[in-house]
Amino acid sequence: MNREKSQALYAAALQYIPGGVNSPVRAFKGVGGNPLFFKGGDGAYLVDVDDNRYIDYVGAWGPLILGHRHERVISALQAQLGKGIGYGASTEAEVEIAKKICSMVHSIEQVRLVTSGTEATMSAIRLARGYTGRDKIVKFEGCYHGHVDGLLVKAGSGALTLGEPDSSGVPQAYSELTHVLPYNDKEAVEDYFETHGNETACVIIEPIAGNMNFVPPVPDYLDLLREKCTESGALLIFDEVMTGFRVAPGGVQQITGVVPDLTTLGKVIGGGLPIGAFGGKRQIMEKIAPNGAVYQAGTLAGSPLAVAAGLAMLETISEPNFYKDLHAKAKALMDGLKERARAAGVPFTTNQVGGMFGCFFSTEEKITKFEQVMACNAEHFQTFFHAMLENGVYLAPSAYEAGFVSAAHGDEEIAKTLDAAENAFAAIN
Ligand SMILES: *Cc1c(COP(=O)(O)O)cnc(C)c1O
Repeated sequence: MNREKSQALYAAALQYIPGGVNSPVRAFKGVGGNPLFFKGGDGAYLVDVDDNRYIDYVGAWGPLILGHRHERVISALQAQLGKGIGYGASTEAEVEIAKKICSMVHSIEQVRLVTSGTEATMSAIRLARGYTGRDKIVKFEGCYHGHVDGLLVKAGSGALTLGEPDSSGVPQAYSELTHVLPYNDKEAVEDYFETHGNETACVIIEPIAGNMNFVPPVPDYLDLLREKCTESGALLIFDEVMTGFRVAPGGVQQITGVVPDLTTLGKVIGGGLPIGAFGGKRQIMEKIAPNGAVYQAGTLAGSPLAVAAGLAMLETISEPNFYKDLHAKAKALMDGLKERARAAGVPFTTNQVGGMFGCFFSTEEKITKFEQVMACNAEHFQTFFHAMLENGVYLAPSAYEAGFVSAAHGDEEIAKTLDAAENAFAAIN
């Protein structure tokens, strides 16, 4: 595969952009080699600057649940462009998208838009602290909640890929207020709450972890968190920036029936444009400025372009059978991958919920713990990643990221991916 133009652009990027990338997850540090540069997307496909086409399972890291350049999203954007880019004041579409989000995610009675997932979690935590009058927060090892100072402690995603789960530059005074618990360990939750429950402002969790590969919660785990938070007066925050509208129209909370106090959203709700949101019970959300004393603001918050794209997206995914089809495609892909791994004699397993999935080069049947993810065969993943790339399939360049199937992935793309995988598994042995 010719990669000349990508290589040249990467060399130039290294000179002017730190590490050549504007987000570390785009670097190829976890797999070796250099990142590709892209010039276009079309449905399930990405096209790089050397005109190579790839079936895309990154989907801009989650937002592109309809694939690239979906016609409804594009025409909503074009219509808005004809009316202006932004006004720094309220619009009708903001009311519409807020109403739509509240109708889809049942725990949300009021919602505020921000411009990234990071801002959403940062604001939700400030709100939880303001509301409870407490400082301590709880997060889980391997969960990523954006690059908020106090949340870059044992973090997942790029921080984990680069081996820097505890970022430098975070004052110790901040990280001391963050207590980290192991994911899916009920005893650790019980122990923590026994001693610190009454000092805790909130527990923030990815209710299905998508930043240490893809790890769903064990049965009753989220219920336990709910119970302990209620008992101790701490708020439960579900960070559904990634899982929201991905695993089900109402997120993980719809699947499990566990109702958080606050929810953070991002990715899908902007249709691919920069956006984030946090919302929850009215009684809590009313503590935010201008009604309450918790300050939070944004120059570009509720950007008419992002809102137009997001609304078109949310309306399209609300259509009947959308999630049934998405789930069926992701399942066919996972079943096919496992079958081909078995045939090749490569230890391999998967997790999948709705349109999200995780691949593990592991002998263990069920992956539920951070340690199991870390124990997977990194060399096998690297070989697999590069072989898939050579065969026209673009996966996230890290063993610690979830994969995404979009509505644009059809039977043909799944079949082509499985053919590529057959070669890639063979390359391992
Ligand atoms: C991506 C992500 C974030 C951060 O969102 P940005 O828009 O990148 O700031 C926060 N939480 C989760 C669970 C995410 O996957």
